[in-house]
Amino acid sequence: MLKGKSAIITGGVRGIGKAIAEVFCKNGANVLLCYRSNDAAAEKTQDELAQYGTKVEILKGDVADSAFAVEAVAKAKLDFGRIDILVNNAGITKDKLLIQMKDEDFDSVVDTNLKGSYYFLKEASSVMIKQRAGSIINLSSIVGVKGNPGQVNYSASKAGIIGMTMSAAKELGRRNVRVNAIAPGSIETDMTDALTDDQRAKMNATISLGRMGQPEDIANVALFLASDMSQYVTAQTICVDGGMSI
Ligand code: NDP
Repeated sequence: MLKGKSAIITGGVRGIGKAIAEVFCKNGANVLLCYRSNDAAAEKTQDELAQYGTKVEILKGDVADSAFAVEAVAKAKLDFGRIDILVNNAGITKDKLLIQMKDEDFDSVVDTNLKGSYYFLKEASSVMIKQRAGSIINLSSIVGVKGNPGQVNYSASKAGIIGMTMSAAKELGRRNVRVNAIAPGSIETDMTDALTDDQRAKMNATISLGRMGQPEDIANVALFLASDMSQYVTAQTICVDGGMSI
């Protein structure tokens, strides 16, 4: 479905980003995987994905630094010749109740999740506009749709991503660049590893399908949005949450 296409995936070496990278490579795409610090995970993922026979590049840096987006887009253009897909997936949490939240906790989550996505959106879309083609996928969260106690910073960043997605889709549609978001529910990754059994049981009780999702559940929707199967889909936020948001 993605034969000959090229993608940048931020946070692409672990969790949801890694699952997206794998399904993209399986479907014929070259990928540039950006990560912040986990060299071991980056090298392991690069080795594992080599089996699919497409180009797999890794690049270390902080998405909250606009210069990193410039560097990543330049590298993808140099390595692959074009950029068909951007997945803004890198994200962090720093959960605290509002009265305990420090300004730095708010700033760092917004800087990584929202501003980081903006930097990559801006850089990659300038290439896609010239190509008159591209698909951008931003990782939001159902917490950005519904809110959640202890996540004022995270929900603000993820709600911002939904607004940014719709505005960018309106700007870029005439150039055949589509922009969509995925709002996952609770997915089993390192990010949700810290949940206790009790917290898991309580959460599962709120999910229609009765269980947390797997990274592949998100990756399959990302594949749909990246491919021509979704050529008339833009400005949307697709909740992939096992029915948690209803
Ligand atoms: P993980 O914590 O498992 O992985 C996060 C990835 O993002 C890592 O590869 C990490 O790099 C990278 N990253 C984090 N901060 C930066 C940064 N500043 N610069 C560059 N890379 C960075 O996260 P998940 O896979 O669970 O989540 C992926 C996305 O999905 C996030 O945006 C998250 O908010 C969203 N999401 C996740 C849900 C879940 O239940 N898991 C639910 C809803 C949304 P490194 O490997 O070097 O640390």
